[in-house]
Amino acid sequence: MQRIVIVGGGAGGLELATQLGRSLGKKGKAIIELIDSSPTHLWKPLLHEVATGALDSGIDELNYRAHGKRHGFQFQIGRMHGLDRDNRQIVLAPMLDDQGQEVLAERRVNYDTLVLAIGSVTNDFGTQGAGEHCIFLDSRDQAERFHRTLLNEFLRTNAASENSDEARTLDIAIVGAGATGVELSAELYNTAEVLASYGLKHMTPEHLKVTLIEAGERILPALPPRISAAAKRELEKLGVTVQTGTMITAVDENGFTTKDDSHIPARLKVWAAGVRAPRFLANLGLETNRVNQLKVNASLQTEDENIFALGDCACLIQADGTPVPPRAQAAHQQASHLIKVLKARSEGQPLPEFVYRDKGSLVSLSRYSTVGSLMGNLTRGSMMIEGRIARLVYVSLYRLHQIALHGYFHTLLLSLVGRINRVIRPRLKLH
Ligand SMILES: Cc1cc2nc3c(=O)[nH]c(=O)nc-3n(C[C@H](O)[C@H](O)[C@H](O)COP(=O)(O)OP(=O)(O)OC[C@H]3O[C@@H](n4cnc5c(N)ncnc54)[C@H](O)[C@@H]3O)c2cc1C
Repeated sequence: MQRIVIVGGGAGGLELATQLGRSLGKKGKAIIELIDSSPTHLWKPLLHEVATGALDSGIDELNYRAHGKRHGFQFQIGRMHGLDRDNRQIVLAPMLDDQGQEVLAERRVNYDTLVLAIGSVTNDFGTQGAGEHCIFLDSRDQAERFHRTLLNEFLRTNAASENSDEARTLDIAIVGAGATGVELSAELYNTAEVLASYGLKHMTPEHLKVTLIEAGERILPALPPRISAAAKRELEKLGVTVQTGTMITAVDENGFTTKDDSHIPARLKVWAAGVRAPRFLANLGLETNRVNQLKVNASLQTEDENIFALGDCACLIQADGTPVPPRAQAAHQQASHLIKVLKARSEGQPLPEFVYRDKGSLVSLSRYSTVGSLMGNLTRGSMMIEGRIARLVYVSLYRLHQIALHGYFHTLLLSLVGRINRVIRPRLKLH
């Protein structure tokens, strides 16, 4: 029986595994196997909310093994680090426990068709000191670590202000004013507000000093200028200092150094600029671009006809010469498209070509506001939306992901649980 192996159970890979599991795995028409380095899935666009405590990752996570049992695919935990194309095998690195003891030895997994969907990580462009001093938000572990550090810093600042005549501030600087940097800035003010209401009287939003640093001329460069302007206004209203046209050249324990040699002090330093695919992809013998993304044709196929790639780790150049952007909606659309491609392939039909439909972008400024555009960018006639409607559409992006994974009824139940939790649980994860 044909064995389809999907590596990476993220925004794209998990939807693909679920749908192939339902249509082929459950009916015994193919073996569908998902491999991920983590035992659980959390939709990546939620990570900034985990970081600030607005979301408890334990509630929204999904266990791959249990989900696979229900939807007709097998799951194996492991981190891919090599590929043997001659024998059609992927190689998984040994798995170690927290003490460095081996839990699972290096393994090889056979495939007939391989789909790589391992996403991307933040690109610090080799900036001196960034790796050592900055916090990145690429995984749930990193987001949870940030959350613990943030709570400690809030406590520390609160105590310092309490014991002094002078009010202390907590300085946080974020490099990169894309969606992640902008959304995180706003969430931090929400965290300060909620914690103050829970008793940290000396750590109110007024004690928080967030600086958002962007090398380009405006924030949210991928969105139309009027949306950037609206988001900037909202952020400044909250108290964020927005510093555009600022290139960072080095990071140290105390903050960031800019190209014109000024220093931006920061106790917490977050790097949220740039995207690159994991480095090992460049060593698989398949063609990659300069940020390690696998080059694919319009059928999402690499130069090896048995290997496909989708989402952030794939580079597909569109008819207008631009690459498909690394976004959850692109991964979602490509997962749906790959189902058609794999079906056509099994029937010996020509492979359909993927066309990315930009449905617009929304940026959530915590509970304060949501801004964005629908139907693509300004030049193609976008519609700017703000406020409640924008918030509704923003939430619906996650609901679409949940529907692809669980179906309508289960998603309805999940959103009801979310509502109940909002009543019975604290507004913030406090530990
Ligand atoms: C904080 C934040 C906010 C965002 N907000 C938005 C937004 O509002 N809208 C939007 O469209 N996009 C947003 N994005 C981008 C979006 O999350 C990504 O474009 C999307 O998740 C890409 O999907 P993917 O399937 O390619 O990879 P991912 O969703 O990143 O999944 C990759 C999976 O591969 C696994 N993996 C990685 N390496 C290996 C390996 N070697 N072996 C095995 N498994 C591996 C990982 O554990 C993960 O489960 C945001 C990103 C971040 C970080």
